[in-house]
Amino acid sequence: MGRLVMKFGGTSVANIDRIRNVARHVKREVDAGHDVAVVVSAMAGKTNELVDWCRDASPMHDAREYDAVVASGEQVTSGLLAIALQGMGIQARSWQGWQIPIKTSDAHASARILEIDGTEISARFKDRKEVAVIAGFQGINPQTNRITTLGRGGSDTSAVAIAAAIRADRCDIYTDVDGVYTTDPRVVPKARRLDKIAFEDMLELASLGAKVLQVRSVELGMVHNMPVFVRSSFDKPEDIDPHGTPPGTLICSEEEIMESHVVTGIAFSKDEAQISLRQIEDKPGVAAAIFGPLADANINVDMIVQNVSEDGKTTDLTFTVPASDYNRARDTITNSKAKIGYIRLDSATDVSKVSVIGSGMRSHAGVAAKAFKALSERNINIRAITTSEIKFSVLIDAAYTELAVRTLHTLYGLDQT
Ligand code: ADP
Ligand code: ASP
Ligand code: MG
Repeated sequence: MGRLVMKFGGTSVANIDRIRNVARHVKREVDAGHDVAVVVSAMAGKTNELVDWCRDASPMHDAREYDAVVASGEQVTSGLLAIALQGMGIQARSWQGWQIPIKTSDAHASARILEIDGTEISARFKDRKEVAVIAGFQGINPQTNRITTLGRGGSDTSAVAIAAAIRADRCDIYTDVDGVYTTDPRVVPKARRLDKIAFEDMLELASLGAKVLQVRSVELGMVHNMPVFVRSSFDKPEDIDPHGTPPGTLICSEEEIMESHVVTGIAFSKDEAQISLRQIEDKPGVAAAIFGPLADANINVDMIVQNVSEDGKTTDLTFTVPASDYNRARDTITNSKAKIGYIRLDSATDVSKVSVIGSGMRSHAGVAAKAFKALSERNINIRAITTSEIKFSVLIDAAYTELAVRTLHTLYGLDQT
């Protein structure tokens, strides 16, 4: 007998039929004798609708009220799943974040989990064999007593944090794909499912655009050494042997992975914007004059490239920011124009970042050079490059994203054969 957290995403609870299907997955594990805590997302599309309603009500809305609104999607699904489970004769109750409580910071819309008290849930496993159905994505700030949410995709993080709090043996993330693939299988049909992936590699994949897991959930899994298993909710619940090994991907520590490739996977993100400042005087203090105000405005700068301007005397500086911060970043720079002293500002929002990830890169040289050649052969222009120990990224025109991802996927031998 063990203890499990089972998390179901939006498509897995999209309607009452799907919720019943989830209940059958839960029943299978309960019948096998496990203690089960379930974490649910809002029904597919619901959170987007709630976010739109907030924007419609007022574009400059109060983030605390935004959280009060968007947290409601998960409240509905947790109640519905508890009802479905009870209908199958399984003891179950729903839990909102504040009822447990899941204590978080007060950074509304992107709160961090500070503490979860798992005592009551664990006691109910023992006393009544009761399944805990927990609303994902939400928590409460203990100082203000206000409802918070954890950022988009945050139910993954709720699930891993609860798994750590109740000392679960594993955290199963049920979604609409049957595991983590070498790249998004919806974009590259030849993508291959990985049996295992190291926390470090998964962290990079998630940070660089693979939305299959929220970044913070991978960080928590790593910190608590909690095995996270990504699998499909679309497999027929009754066909799965609860003691067998179903298809899926285990995210675990690097030591547990026998076979390692130089490149593990490819991620991409279209949520990028590029700003280039032309003909800046090349003197000390310029970078500080540009990036200081951006940091003060809480804008995350990602890639930075500096090169000599066309005139051969001054310098050009290019950097990227998240697309959602693009307007603010432009305004911030324009306001500092006199201090920076550039001649022209060029910008582009139709750009994307393609990243190649693999902890094997630590011990291999020339991995990125191969990519630059392959992309140039496809006539894909690289606007900026960044590298680190286990990944490199290129910024390209958004129109070439799929072509670039497919080219690199084949180049590094990741295609399914
Ligand atoms: P959920 O609603 O269950 O949380 P998400 O939509 O957040 O599901 O995440 C699952 C989606 O992530 C998949 O449908 C897939 O398109 C996308 N995805 C992106 N990159 C990958 C990858 N490397 N492996 C698997 N899925 C990926
Ligand atoms: N419902 C939230 C979202 O759509 C949280 C989640 O699904 O993980 O972002
Ligand atoms: Mg998700």
